[in-house]
Amino acid sequence: MPDATKAPSSVPVGVDTTRASIARVYDAALNGKDNFEIDREVLRQVATVAPQVNDLAWSNRNFLIRACRFLASQGGITQYLDCGSGLPTAENTHQVVQRLQPTAKVLYVDNDPVVLAHGRALLEENEQTLFISADIFQPEEILGNDEVREFLDFSQPIALIHNGTLHHYLGHDGPEIIKKYTDEMLPGSYTVIAHFLDPETPEHSQIARAMEQKFTHSPMGSGVFRTHDQIAAMFGDQELVEPGLVLCDDWWPDGPRVKPLNQVEECIAGAVGRKV
Ligand code: SAM
Repeated sequence: MPDATKAPSSVPVGVDTTRASIARVYDAALNGKDNFEIDREVLRQVATVAPQVNDLAWSNRNFLIRACRFLASQGGITQYLDCGSGLPTAENTHQVVQRLQPTAKVLYVDNDPVVLAHGRALLEENEQTLFISADIFQPEEILGNDEVREFLDFSQPIALIHNGTLHHYLGHDGPEIIKKYTDEMLPGSYTVIAHFLDPETPEHSQIARAMEQKFTHSPMGSGVFRTHDQIAAMFGDQELVEPGLVLCDDWWPDGPRVKPLNQVEECIAGAVGRKV
């Protein structure tokens, strides 16, 4: 029997295939190809308590796509700082926004070696898009990076994207982290956040806590379900674009709902904030 943890020859240098990674587990949930047995095992474990776990990833991703469309069209934003970009999939931030704003610049930041390898390959011929490796929970590191300062113009509005990232941060200073980014940005700049939600209803809180246990005790090691107020606090004194902080599936859906949300879709929320 083949050893599923052995790396195929295409695995980028420095990738540990014996430890699950957030980016690869998420890729597996979105039916991507850049994941290993250890990543798929995390999802199988979570599926024992939440069989529809993959829908959580899709709700998160589809919210990001709609938020980017909004920022590029209604918001007229031409600069994006996408923190924790994940593995390239269909409809990446630069593809969505450059379709609407052909001159838009997108800076992707991630610390996963597989993300970096694939991202750089994808973007080789796109001069308006850059990938850097950094810790997204250390804003000073990113804001002080010369490449970032050269690429993005901080005298113009910027959209900060932290989509599906902060629930992997165990500290309590998420709001301070976001503030450090937005303090450097002009009024009229935006912040996009999607985050695992503890809906604080007996039925859904129970499933949120059960998923949290599975994620945090998995080889991936994190996945915190925060309450509505805890997630709202991440936006500080920014104005939330209507409809505010809601379930990702309820944020300007593409059309009318024809089937009720399932349990995991009730456990992920998102919002877009505007600096005033
Ligand atoms: N933002 C994408 C989306 O919403 O589709 C991907 C979200 S994925 C769940 C989270 C991403 O954050 C992963 O690619 C992971 O590698 C990245 N990430 C997690 N912690 C990070 C850190 N400390 N520094 C940089 N990237 C990080």
